[in-house]
Amino acid sequence: MEVRDRYAPSPTGLQHIGGLRTALFNYLFAKSQNGKFILRLEDTDRTRFDPVYVENLYASFDWLGFHWDEGPDVGGPAAPYVQSERFETYKNYAHDLLEKGAAYYCFCTPQRLDALRAERAAAHSSAAGYDRLCRDIPAHEAAARAAREPHTIRLKIPLGAATVFDDLLLGRVEWQNDDVNPDPVLLKSDGFPTYHLANVVDDHLMGITHVLRAQEWLASTPLHVILYRAFGWDAPLFCHLPMVMGQDGKKLSKRHGATSVDEFRKKGFLPEALVNYVALLGASYEEGKEMYSLPELCARFSLEKLNKAPAVFDYKKLEWYNAQYIRMKPDGELAALALPYAVQSGLFGAEGRAPSPEQRAVFSAAMPLVKERAVFLSDIPDKLGYLFAEPPVPAACEFIPKKSNTEEALRLLKIGRELAAVAAELDDAAAECAAKKAAEKEGVKLGDLLTPLRVALTGSRVSPPLFGSIRLLGRELCLARIDRALEKLPG
Ligand code: GLU
Repeated sequence: MEVRDRYAPSPTGLQHIGGLRTALFNYLFAKSQNGKFILRLEDTDRTRFDPVYVENLYASFDWLGFHWDEGPDVGGPAAPYVQSERFETYKNYAHDLLEKGAAYYCFCTPQRLDALRAERAAAHSSAAGYDRLCRDIPAHEAAARAAREPHTIRLKIPLGAATVFDDLLLGRVEWQNDDVNPDPVLLKSDGFPTYHLANVVDDHLMGITHVLRAQEWLASTPLHVILYRAFGWDAPLFCHLPMVMGQDGKKLSKRHGATSVDEFRKKGFLPEALVNYVALLGASYEEGKEMYSLPELCARFSLEKLNKAPAVFDYKKLEWYNAQYIRMKPDGELAALALPYAVQSGLFGAEGRAPSPEQRAVFSAAMPLVKERAVFLSDIPDKLGYLFAEPPVPAACEFIPKKSNTEEALRLLKIGRELAAVAAELDDAAAECAAKKAAEKEGVKLGDLLTPLRVALTGSRVSPPLFGSIRLLGRELCLARIDRALEKLPG
């Protein structure tokens, strides 16, 4: 039997880590089984629907780099994959249940239901949900009233029995039907289906074999199992994924930091890092191995590798992954990825200004200088400002090596000037060799010799590697910056 699973988001918000984790695990499971991964839009809640969230969904997954085999944009044998285009189907299935006696018409008005809630609250009653008032109206009478009165259709939960299913992760789950949401609405008075009806009908019609979804849906599953039985269908296998928590043990939310895929993208995360890290939220693969590409994950994923315990989202660990993936990028690709951040930050003269061909070349050539230290793509332009604009000359004290003085800084900078003139034409190893020789000759530590030179050229005591910077700035510019510094240093 071919495995078919799905990601079924409701487009009522931006794609976030929880959704990504569900989508990714479904994708990995389907791929690991040579099955099909399906996208279905559950847009039945028209009041909270906004097309920007659908756009955000497509843009997020385009960026993340994995896709579904069937879905609204690519079609497939079970189309349409958008619930708002399937309303007729749900209506028909709700009526099937009426005919089978597994559902009933309910004529309770919203006012009555509000009054019921208020009454219970006043009496401090723990009863919740519908009181099943319309459950016993004889079918012929109800059908006649339905022709002229507004109504909903409710599921008739079989009382006095239990519903049992085997969760692939949690094992046997048993619910007393009397504790399940009492006779939930399947079809609303405006003819729209509720989540429960549409979800079950679609999973059946789309041939879904496995439902991997967040644990917050576990409480709905007995109801879904009851619905499958009422229709006379086999239920798919369920696997409720462990919760994703913040480090304080509370469900991951905005309070903990970025949660939407968009925020991570804007911050300068690479999709490979996010996918790699999220694939580990609630699953472990190989002892000691942390870096996994998408194909490696597809090859290794299995439900046995899921953990029952909640997963903790560690922003620092995600940053570590990002730094690793930045390092692994070929320079040309990294430059292309970091370029938009550079343009936006004004690296090339003004915010939003594109680089000239010369600036573009320098930017690309600078990647080896920064890739070892950048955590975010946005760090890259931040570290390279001195290559594109003259940094202000720092205060004299900045030029002074540790335990030294201004006079010595001035002397070292003059030596540094000669060194830079030569180093600009050399590769890093040869430049370093020349620097070491100069330091030895002068009887100073290499670091001390380079401090005033670094400050003069980059405007800071901490900078990307100096010899690479000298090469990229070129002899003329280096000498001009050093001269400018020499002028400002009291001598
Ligand atoms: N539309 C539901 C959601 O937004 C789907 C839950 C499920 O996978 O059944 O998550």
